[in-house]
Amino acid sequence: MKSMKLGSLALILLLVSAPFALGADKEPAIINPGPTPSDAIVLFSGKDISQWKNDKGADVQWKLLPDGSMEVNGSGSIQTKEEFGDCQLHIEWATPSEVKGDSQGRGNSGVYFQGRYEIQVLDSYNNKTYFIGQAGSFYNHFAPLVNASRKPGEWQTYDIIFHTPKATADGKSVTPGSFTVLHNGVLIQDHIEVKGDATTAAKFSGVAPKGPLILQDHGNPVRYRNIWIRKL
Ligand code: MG
Repeated sequence: MKSMKLGSLALILLLVSAPFALGADKEPAIINPGPTPSDAIVLFSGKDISQWKNDKGADVQWKLLPDGSMEVNGSGSIQTKEEFGDCQLHIEWATPSEVKGDSQGRGNSGVYFQGRYEIQVLDSYNNKTYFIGQAGSFYNHFAPLVNASRKPGEWQTYDIIFHTPKATADGKSVTPGSFTVLHNGVLIQDHIEVKGDATTAAKFSGVAPKGPLILQDHGNPVRYRNIWIRKL
């Protein structure tokens, strides 16, 4: 009888404590959701480009346009001065309205997390290319689930949740991270694995807790605007 009571007590304690073990004991912070969330770091909102540097560490030379965007102009890729690990990124981009080139040569740019893992930016509207290289692909690794591209020249959005791959304690292997990507509000990458293999020709390689966000200059005048990031 006594042991049964103790058993019941243990069960009750387990049930009561279970939600706390799952992290339900912390009161969520109150934020203003925005359009730009109040706990986000604004990386670019139209004029101020001071959060960025070029690939030689100097001031960014991309063209600032009157519509509040910045345009790739052949002066090289740019990267954030701050480095990030796990994060949520919002970024808006537009490929040139005047269509030139095809496949990887049409509206190519890209967003590199930790300077390593590229979510491809490309004009993928009526533009055939390899699946792991089209817009929204985790370049060379995963094709998007669907092609949710808008027409050339139209503004498009990526909302990306990134978790870093991590080296195991013995340093011999990697616990995969992940990408979840919404393209124009549509889920196109559903918690896919990031195993630590950097995109070909990425500026950095190897697994690290943090790294800069890089926007690629692939020689096409792609525009970007309204970029913000939340650390997770
Ligand atoms: Mg690219």
